[in-house]
Amino acid sequence: MGRKFFVGGNWKCTGTTEEVKKIVSNLNDAQVPSFDVVEVVVSPPYVFLPLVKNSLRPDFHVAAQNCWVKKGGAFTGEVSAEMLVNLGIPWVILGHSERRSLLNESNEFVGDKVAYALSQGLKVIACVGETLEQREAGSTMEVVAAQTKAIAARVSNWADVVLAYEPVWAIGTGKVASPAQAQEVHSELRKWLHANTSPEVAATTRIIYGGSISTIATLRKLIEPVPYSEAEHTLFAFRDRRYCSEPISKKLMCFSHAAGSVNGANCKELGAKPDVDGFLVGGASLKPEFIDIIKAAE
Ligand code: PEP
Repeated sequence: MGRKFFVGGNWKCTGTTEEVKKIVSNLNDAQVPSFDVVEVVVSPPYVFLPLVKNSLRPDFHVAAQNCWVKKGGAFTGEVSAEMLVNLGIPWVILGHSERRSLLNESNEFVGDKVAYALSQGLKVIACVGETLEQREAGSTMEVVAAQTKAIAARVSNWADVVLAYEPVWAIGTGKVASPAQAQEVHSELRKWLHANTSPEVAATTRIIYGGSISTIATLRKLIEPVPYSEAEHTLFAFRDRRYCSEPISKKLMCFSHAAGSVNGANCKELGAKPDVDGFLVGGASLKPEFIDIIKAAE
């Protein structure tokens, strides 16, 4: 059962009208695989939604970065799902780690938002992911499963949901995950869906990755001529804080700091993992390399 590759661009709280027009113009001019191969969804700040919606090429879609948990009304500063539908915005990102941590959005609150957005006809990019403390305590899957459970409990139509695994420790921290680490959690999440929803939902739901990633292709440039498998082994040894030789350790340290979020250079290797069905891209979605990331679907 094929899962169409999905590339989301989260522009976060950045940009001016001029910058947004430039990004849209770059996207409109780009030669990318067709909608049959890759689904592209960009998510500008609320105030730019009409501008982007009205000027973006029709094969790319638009998402809001959040919406209110129920019907609109006396909720100053909020934007309701109905308003997004009224503007013709088909998607919304919910449960992003920045909202979970900075605005204290709980698993249940995110689950309620997902339920309401779906009930109004929006499609949802639902984000989950563990913090560094949680990973180091060995509770990654427990945390991610609890977040997914609160969402799954409220979802009846999984065709309208994309799950985004975004390890919080790999967003803007200088710490990086490897494609193997991403694949491991994606695969566990798919098993969770299989056991707790249905085999069909597990097989068809897209699970996309967001956050910093380090790939062997980048690593090899730093520790050549180490063969591929050895490089991978060395990288794991380094991550696990096991012994590795001083010069290599120093190079890896530089590498760790140099490696970035999903970008044009690392997306192919990550996208080739069997349970990685695309990406949610932050910083790089504002740059021309977003086009290369979309092309990773080819
Ligand atoms: C994000 O915050 O959704 C994200 C993936 O950010 P970045 O790509 O900038 O790490």
